[in-house]
Amino acid sequence: MPTSGDGPTSQPHVVLLPSAGMGHLVPFSRLAVALSSAHGCDVSLVTVLPTVSSAESSHLEALFGAFPAVRRLEFHLADFDASEFPNADPFFLRFEAMRRSAPLLLGPLLARASATALVTDIALSSVVIPVAKQLRLPCYVLFTASAAMLSLCVHFPAYLDANGNGLVGDVDIPGVYQIPKASVPQALHDPKHLFTRQFVANGRELAKSDGVLVNSFDAFEPEAIAALREGAVSAAGFFPPVFSVGPLAPVSFPAGNNNRADYIQWLEAQPARSVVYVSFGSRKAVARDQLRELAAGLEASGHRFLWVVKSTVVDRDDDADLGELLGEGFLERVQGRGMVTKGWVEQEDVLKQESVGLFISHCGWNSVTEAAAGGLPVLAWPRFGDQRVNAGVVARSGLGVWVDSWSWEGEEGVVSGESIAEKVKAVMGDEIARNKAVSVRDAAAKAVADGGTSYRNLARFAQRCRDGR
Ligand code: UDP
Ligand code: UDP
Repeated sequence: MPTSGDGPTSQPHVVLLPSAGMGHLVPFSRLAVALSSAHGCDVSLVTVLPTVSSAESSHLEALFGAFPAVRRLEFHLADFDASEFPNADPFFLRFEAMRRSAPLLLGPLLARASATALVTDIALSSVVIPVAKQLRLPCYVLFTASAAMLSLCVHFPAYLDANGNGLVGDVDIPGVYQIPKASVPQALHDPKHLFTRQFVANGRELAKSDGVLVNSFDAFEPEAIAALREGAVSAAGFFPPVFSVGPLAPVSFPAGNNNRADYIQWLEAQPARSVVYVSFGSRKAVARDQLRELAAGLEASGHRFLWVVKSTVVDRDDDADLGELLGEGFLERVQGRGMVTKGWVEQEDVLKQESVGLFISHCGWNSVTEAAAGGLPVLAWPRFGDQRVNAGVVARSGLGVWVDSWSWEGEEGVVSGESIAEKVKAVMGDEIARNKAVSVRDAAAKAVADGGTSYRNLARFAQRCRDGR
């Protein structure tokens, strides 16, 4: 196995550059393992230490431990003064720190590593593509959200230009569909927002990449993927190749010990399709008054549930007491039929359980692709960012249902326990919804199987890396 700094190798050396947060690290890890184990590439994954969350550091440790063929390439950031952005989200701040370091520090790192191709995270694209161009290094982008969101990213700069940079309304994406004003990520309504500046810069630069990989599949998002490929979305009428390679296969790490987690043991003991799995992802906290209503709703639904509660943005800071968070007596009343945890659960393992019948999800894109691969119906409750756009994909594709009147971060109104209970009961009893989710699973399996669209696209991408283009 070649090591960093060796000369040219027979295998292409593909360097993967994720930004921050599990939503970005997870698909990059999956891509790293797929390229390294099934597609003949020598792969390095760039890491920035310390990570923002402890979930990311545990994940990296497990990944490099289990897949020694995937090499670690440490990226040391230049000093970054965050005081310019008071109260900014810690993950967006890390994006910014990486974006500022890339023009000076990334080039030497890639040159030392003898990279032959680079795959950058979408959040870093506009600063990384020029660095790669200077090195004459083929540069691809991994778009970590839906193809619908990718189409919004490509179209949004032109939308703003035409709009005189005024208020953002419904956004009609050429060749795709309309994203209603209420589904446009909160930050994008503010042109000065740190995320908006990054998003617009990245959207403008994307057409200069050598191709875009997206963790989706043709049958799941036919409109967006076709329109991007046809160049209909891009103002230039041209767009580089789109490699829809999803759902990227999960990477399983051998358990550190022989003890199966307590929640898995509990799930194994429950009847088929009787449990509602509730998770709002790794990225954000749900407001306390909404947590209480959700607790009331789950209790009133009468169904069994496994609920992952998160009360702070960064997991290291989470020291809240569950009993106090969810209301007096709640944990005692639901004992036996409800399991609540503040810790990290292996979501992949949870979604595989026969006993799980419904996923109440924030629609982080990885969670959506995992539900699609498992054929698990989703009750979409987007809270932030791209999640309403993703929830639209869930509803269109038949993977699940979305009550689009339910509020999200920054909107007035708490969704009542009563509404939640009513919807949970309806979807848990909905045979048609279950069958539709199974059809999505079948289409996903076909896409990634030998000869399927996603399989072929990943093989084509690896071939390009071998060809040095
Ligand atoms: N995840 C997990 N356990 C948790 C929370 C999240 O395994 O307790 C995983 C989940 O399976 C997904 C990723 O972390 O792969 C979260 O990414 P997603 O895009 O769903 O949402 P985000 O956390 O970025 O909002
Ligand atoms: N493409 C695809 N499926 C196909 C054929 C083409 O997704 O069955 C897309 C894909 O994004 C690919 C691009 O079209 O990257 C160009 O494909 P082609 O095989 O012509 O060129 P290559 O990618 O091998 O350079």
